[in-house]
Amino acid sequence: MTTATCGSTILYGRPLRTYGKGRVCAHNGCDTIVSLYNPLKYCSLHEKLHRSSIDVDSILFTTKECLLCGCDKLANSDFWDAEEGTADGLSDVCRECTSGAVAA
Ligand SMILES: [Zn+2]
Ligand SMILES: [Zn+2]
Repeated sequence: MTTATCGSTILYGRPLRTYGKGRVCAHNGCDTIVSLYNPLKYCSLHEKLHRSSIDVDSILFTTKECLLCGCDKLANSDFWDAEEGTADGLSDVCRECTSGAVAA
């Protein structure tokens, strides 16, 4: 009889789980690397800023284009689902398309 003993020790000893490698703060122009354990889009400085007052910056009015419907919508969580690992932390498909998805 043979015993299967292959491939089960890969990466053993590297238990770190992260939210994505080197995510940068989503605030325009900010180079701060967001902590790998921080589920938020902004560094601690800008996280506060984006939470407290809305008219701080015109950055909030940046739009992005939906991959599916091609509409430009404000790049915020009202119109886009959050998605880890993307450049701006938002899905490339707008909420409208996501929720009404696959409606043949
Ligand atoms: Zn920042
Ligand atoms: Zn769309």
